[in-house]
Amino acid sequence: MTEESIQVMGVRGLPLIQEGDDLCALISEQVALKDGDIICIASSVYSKAKGYTRTLGEIIPGERACRIAGRTGEDPRFIQAVIDASQEILLEYPFVLSELPCGHVGVRAGVDQSNIEKDHIILLPPNPMGAATDLREGFRDAAGVETGVIVTDTCGRSFRRGQTGHAIGWSGMTAIRDFRGDTDLFGHVLKITEEAVVDEIAGFANFVMGESDNGVPAVVFRNCPPWKGHDNLYFSPDEDIMRKLLTS
Ligand code: GDP
Ligand code: MN
Ligand code: MN
Repeated sequence: MTEESIQVMGVRGLPLIQEGDDLCALISEQVALKDGDIICIASSVYSKAKGYTRTLGEIIPGERACRIAGRTGEDPRFIQAVIDASQEILLEYPFVLSELPCGHVGVRAGVDQSNIEKDHIILLPPNPMGAATDLREGFRDAAGVETGVIVTDTCGRSFRRGQTGHAIGWSGMTAIRDFRGDTDLFGHVLKITEEAVVDEIAGFANFVMGESDNGVPAVVFRNCPPWKGHDNLYFSPDEDIMRKLLTS
């Protein structure tokens, strides 16, 4: 017996996104969405549509940005934008690693210089959870469908080379599938396993999107089996041993 296959569809045919664009309407024109679909959207296009971008020319770097940029060899104005987007800098060198107000910890605060005009930068949406809710409502308005939405970004990881897609905002599902209390094939009760499903889906979406000029900023997942769990994706400062090591 087989389960119904999960379908994964990259959304092609979208224009270069400009401030003010209605992403949900544009995506709904390219794909016939269905109730229950999970739509992954690259944070870069959400930010472009909402105007969460800056130009390097308007940024005056401060003392800290100049000092860090002197070590990393980056543009001090870019580093100032990273500092401005950060709540707490956890590491300055060999790259800036910081926590954002939303709880996400990322290299260069997720500020991008790719897929935007020269001397412009893309910031992460300041409220990615709100962004996911906003998009979900947008799909309801544009296509009359009840979907889940995951806002993704490409992120580096500890311990392993290579970036993967991560969920930075989600709506219409829980971040974590909680296996604690379930029994395995041998009757052992699982005590620890919490699966970060939104990151797994974001990881596959990122694979379909690609990083460069593929032009696929949205990916639709159909027939994902539902799951139950909770939304505590981020460790509290007390639980977070890596963060303690970095800041001690
Ligand atoms: P991030 O992972 O959210 O930082 O976004 P990326 O810059 O890696 O882009 C993810 C995908 O979206 C890639 O396939 C890009 O080519 C595509 N993309 C980025 N901006 C646009 C845009 O304005 N229009 C279209 N059609 N695709 C875009
Ligand atoms: Mn990015
Ligand atoms: Mn990417």
